[in-house]
Amino acid sequence: MENKRVRVRFAPSPTGGLHMGGVRVALFNYLFAKKHGGDFILRIEDTDQTRFVAGAEEYIINSLKWCGIEPNEGVGFGDGPHAPYRQSERKEQGIYKKYADQLVASEHAYYAFDTSEELDEMRKRLEAAKVAAPQYNAVSRQNMRNSLTLSEDEVKRLLEAGTPYVIRLKVPRNEEIRFHDIIRGWVVVNSSQVDDKVLLKSDGMPTYHLAHIVDDVEMKISHAMRGEEWLPSAPAHILIYRYLGLEDQMPQLAHLPLILKPDGNGKLSKRDKSGLPMFPLNWSDPRDNTDYVGYKETGFFPEAFINMLVLLGWNPGDNKEIMSKDELIQLFSLERINKAGAKFDPEKTKWFNQQYLRKKTDEELADLFMPMLKEQGFEVKKDFAVKVCKLVKEKAHFVTEFWSLGSFLFITPETFDAGVLEKRLNPQTHGFIAELKNALNDVSNFNAIDTEAALKATCEKTGIATGQIMQLFRVALTGLAGGPSLFETMELIGKEETIKRLNFFLEKNKV
Ligand code: GLU
Repeated sequence: MENKRVRVRFAPSPTGGLHMGGVRVALFNYLFAKKHGGDFILRIEDTDQTRFVAGAEEYIINSLKWCGIEPNEGVGFGDGPHAPYRQSERKEQGIYKKYADQLVASEHAYYAFDTSEELDEMRKRLEAAKVAAPQYNAVSRQNMRNSLTLSEDEVKRLLEAGTPYVIRLKVPRNEEIRFHDIIRGWVVVNSSQVDDKVLLKSDGMPTYHLAHIVDDVEMKISHAMRGEEWLPSAPAHILIYRYLGLEDQMPQLAHLPLILKPDGNGKLSKRDKSGLPMFPLNWSDPRDNTDYVGYKETGFFPEAFINMLVLLGWNPGDNKEIMSKDELIQLFSLERINKAGAKFDPEKTKWFNQQYLRKKTDEELADLFMPMLKEQGFEVKKDFAVKVCKLVKEKAHFVTEFWSLGSFLFITPETFDAGVLEKRLNPQTHGFIAELKNALNDVSNFNAIDTEAALKATCEKTGIATGQIMQLFRVALTGLAGGPSLFETMELIGKEETIKRLNFFLEKNKV
């Protein structure tokens, strides 16, 4: 077991868009596989036909591609030796049924013929008797219609008549079930807490419980890493492995902690209102007709997204925060995954993107920004775009903010910040701007250094301190109360535009 080749799987159900919690599960699996030179498999668990959502599978595949955490085997990534990788297709090949039959034959599973009305009645009966958690189990099954209570002849007759049935796991009444989880250590659960899980449904489809075990064994999975929500089902899974005689082929389990809401109160939901996306890519959910925005479309870099995500529940053992994918592969270990839930931090998430933005060269940023500029109707030369990026990137978290931060470079302002005008505009400062305009007009080499010198000289000449005038000058030139260096701004927009803007300002704001 210890020497088993590392083979891990991400096994989503195509029941909707893959939210960031799912991406994190995939990411941990990916990093672990890469670290150990193993395989990372994408298996689509589509046995619940009632919850199937069209487009979900494609969305999952595209999301993994965008994040750069690509499986090397499985649906959408090339078939490996264990194809097919969609459970519905595996069911067609009869892969699951034989395991269910084996469990029935060894009397660890049984047929249950109960209708949904009968199951409802059972639940009501148990509730009336104040049973804390009503379930189909070693006690309640005795009053139900199954192959443990009915005579052999009756069971045979029902089966032959084509009566719908499910196959249930026969969980013992009172037995200690013990298993090891890499993150949680030893877990002990009494079997009285475990219900007789359905293994095969009346439509012939296996449930998740049976199907994932069969597939994990057949696909030679070494470690099963999945969300904490599956921990309560794990004892039943242990019994299934045991009853199938497959305990020695069971993958090591690792249940990953939840991602919590920013205030730490409960699980992060796809409807979270913290202002950041919950999905990697835009997702239109056909079930609730809701459009969810993606990290990609918000302007996140995939490297920043996965760097933020990996630290939700894992750390490298020191305070290092910015790590490339290669570093993460080096540093990753299951032992450093926390048990406790990890709080999602929207501000920190943006900070990650900012760090990655700052690592990019102005040329790289320009390549990203130019198509956005084009959308706004401005086609500029690359070296101009490079200068714009250099100027506006300081405050930005995203390239998608560059336009709103830098549109004043392209559009001559027609309105001026009213607060600043009220505070700073008077005959003296109006006169100063006029003086300054003349001084700037005389600058022959219109660069940041020479325009700054012209401003200083005008201040000296008029006896007005720079501090008193800069904000009004900014408003005159850009319309805005804040922004990047004015001297760099002038160099970019050029002398003609600078003078034109100042003239317009002086004319429009006569005092
Ligand atoms: N299909 C399950 C899910 O959607 C997979 C759980 C597992 O990885 O075993 O979460």
